[in-house]
Amino acid sequence: MYKNLIYGINTLVPLANGIEVPYINFDNAATTPPFVSVIETINNFSQYYSSVHRGTGYKSIISSQFYENARDEVLNFVKGNNKYHTVIFVKNTTEAINKLSYRLKDEIGDGIVLSTYMEHHSNDLPWRSKYKVDYVQVDKNGRLSLDHLEYLLKKYNGKVKLLTVTGASNVTGYLNPIYKIAQIAHKYGSKILVDGAQLVPHHPVDMKPIDHPEHIDYIAFSAHKMYAPFGIGVLIAPKATFNKGHSEYVGGGTIKLVTPQDVIWEEPPQKEEAGTPNLLGVVALIESLKILKSIGMNKISNYERELTKYTLERIKKVPHIILYDDMDIMNKVSIISFNIEGLYHETVANILSLEGGIAVRNGCFCAQPYIQKLLNISIEEMKKYKQDENLLRPGTVRISFGLYNDYQEVNILIELLNQIAYNRKKYNLKYKTLLST
Ligand code: PMP
Repeated sequence: MYKNLIYGINTLVPLANGIEVPYINFDNAATTPPFVSVIETINNFSQYYSSVHRGTGYKSIISSQFYENARDEVLNFVKGNNKYHTVIFVKNTTEAINKLSYRLKDEIGDGIVLSTYMEHHSNDLPWRSKYKVDYVQVDKNGRLSLDHLEYLLKKYNGKVKLLTVTGASNVTGYLNPIYKIAQIAHKYGSKILVDGAQLVPHHPVDMKPIDHPEHIDYIAFSAHKMYAPFGIGVLIAPKATFNKGHSEYVGGGTIKLVTPQDVIWEEPPQKEEAGTPNLLGVVALIESLKILKSIGMNKISNYERELTKYTLERIKKVPHIILYDDMDIMNKVSIISFNIEGLYHETVANILSLEGGIAVRNGCFCAQPYIQKLLNISIEEMKKYKQDENLLRPGTVRISFGLYNDYQEVNILIELLNQIAYNRKKYNLKYKTLLST
């Protein structure tokens, strides 16, 4: 529907037989292609490209103003409040969460952080390396258990200082009811961080006023998953989080005064952004937010949901398919994980690319504990994989849609999946060499 918005949409790619076909990108959960207007805006803005907060020249002033005004645009996109929140520009979601994990040291102290079994490693490892962490369980379909969440909050009796949870899973696309979860967390005195990497590009988000029981305290997301380039992301948090102490990185731009003996730090967000910032990244992000807003996040969410529903209805009829999905289409973003019985996930992913020009991702998607749950793999079994490099790794094939994917592309996928499923032996033999390389 929105193909004309996407840069490089008509790229042809070679198949194994040398024939060139249009590239079908079903790997948007990893990275989306940029909007045409994002590339154009970067190009146009480049004539004003100059240092941010570090020069008195006209271009420097334009650049600094754009950079600062961008914070309100970002807040506006997720309905934050500039009196209360600060927007810190970072590299990506991973950096945002790492930064927050470092800056909450005083607040969390020897309290508990609750994470969940469905997190991306970027929303798990930063916490477990610094705090006592416990994990909210998922049910047999991979949905987060709110009962277990409440059980843990009760069990720790006010000691949980932070609940950190993904807005949508990057493996199954399951949406978590973040407002309900926020309300439960606040009831027990915990704050909530939403990992918005897979949520913000696909679904409307509302951080809600801070006196609302369902408000979101912290959110993080990445521009490269929302039609802008790599290297720019966002952490939104209460300003007060950064009053005390200083960032894990310090240096130029973070201080008011330095003497050989003393340092007086800048206010947030400046004190959190050491070094010359990524202006063109911010320019790109703001343009992508503008386009997403002009289409409307509800419309995007509805369109992607219909495409996902269409795909699920067809993919479930492919012989030997194993779907990791509870088919609750109203409560997921446009991500589908599957396997074909008897075929290694990597083989399927390679065939899709080499015989259909279809890009997907396979493996564990930086969410190993979740994959272990979904595939029902015991810790003992996991140890075997650790010890034997030659064992085929557990994982799934993942397709993930962006707003520009369409029904015709899904039809090509389904046809090829049927072909693979009906000819599993042939494909296993044909692509055996790929497995051993
Ligand atoms: N969280 C989730 C849910 C993700 O899907 C990803 C990216 N796959 C990340 C965090 C990390 O994002 P980035 O690589 O942009 O830091």
